[in-house]
Amino acid sequence: MELKISRAEALKPLPDESELTFGTVFSDHMFNMDYDQNRGWHNPRIEPYQPIVMDPSTMVLHYGQSIFEGLKAFKTESGAVQLFRPEENFKRFNRSGHKLCMPPIDEAFALEALKELLKIDKRWVPSTLGTSLYIRPTIIAMDPYVGVRASYTYRFFIILSPVGAYYKEGFNPVKIWVTDKYVRAVRGGMGEVKTAGNYAASLYAGEEANRIGYTQVLWLDGVELKYIEEVGSMNIFFVIDDEIITPALSGSILSGITRDTVKQLADKWGKPVSERRISIDELIAAHEAGKLQEMFGSGTAAVISPVGEVMYKDKIMKIGDGKVGKWSQKFFTAITDIQYGVAEDPDGWIMPLE
Ligand SMILES: *Cc1c(COP(=O)(O)O)cnc(C)c1O
Repeated sequence: MELKISRAEALKPLPDESELTFGTVFSDHMFNMDYDQNRGWHNPRIEPYQPIVMDPSTMVLHYGQSIFEGLKAFKTESGAVQLFRPEENFKRFNRSGHKLCMPPIDEAFALEALKELLKIDKRWVPSTLGTSLYIRPTIIAMDPYVGVRASYTYRFFIILSPVGAYYKEGFNPVKIWVTDKYVRAVRGGMGEVKTAGNYAASLYAGEEANRIGYTQVLWLDGVELKYIEEVGSMNIFFVIDDEIITPALSGSILSGITRDTVKQLADKWGKPVSERRISIDELIAAHEAGKLQEMFGSGTAAVISPVGEVMYKDKIMKIGDGKVGKWSQKFFTAITDIQYGVAEDPDGWIMPLE
């Protein structure tokens, strides 16, 4: 397949790097490719960033047949642009697509197309330490049809958005609320898939958490409301009595690439992560016994997000006296040093742009 390139006639002004937030500004170009049953995936193209015009009956708008990915491009001190484990994102993209009854994409081709897009929009990769260019590949169902079935046509697109440093004044431990009322996903459902519907399912509880002063929701399993699953955009880790623990993948937990990176680093450091079931009762008991040393989330956006406070029913647990734990700090530094080219990359996690 030949990638067609048409460049924007006028380029947008770049945003001020010190004022970048998340997901509000988009670059000059985007990647687009279409699918239908006769031609398969066809017409791959890089073109000016533009709206997608669609019929009001377009299936994605009604039934949420949609998948996405999230990864980042980083600029090193020497000005080189690099990606972190991008093959993993495209593998997961196809796993998600399979669950949503979508045709698979050629992962190697998609990665090459992304690299071409990044070369064209390279000036959009910010250079201040901690900033990056967020990459959002997405596939949506395009049939104009208001009936329930898998679509016969799809659009695959990739857009780019420069994002600010998640931690401008050092780590800020977050406050999370454990809901015993709502569930995000159940075994056999879509929890392990990066699909729009999971986020729709999380909004109501998220607003309730915000109303009582918490920033995120920690989800329990959808059957017994007993075992800890994840935060909804981050996987979760605990350090209890010097054991690093993360919930085992159950089918309803998203298999995070940052989660896997943390596991691999921990192995290398001779401190393997225990992947197992962990109940909210075990967490409370560990806290009461003074053994809950650390808790942190992992995900592409924040890399590592220390948790400073957890609320469950009427119980408030403070963790680590508002200080960042040693493991949270160690994982954060190790991962970001590799991403920004400060440290060696012994495991081949970095893919340079050229
Ligand atoms: C994307 C995502 C994560 C984090 O995955 P990473 O690959 O580490 O960015 C965790 N949970 C959910 C529900 C997600 O969608």
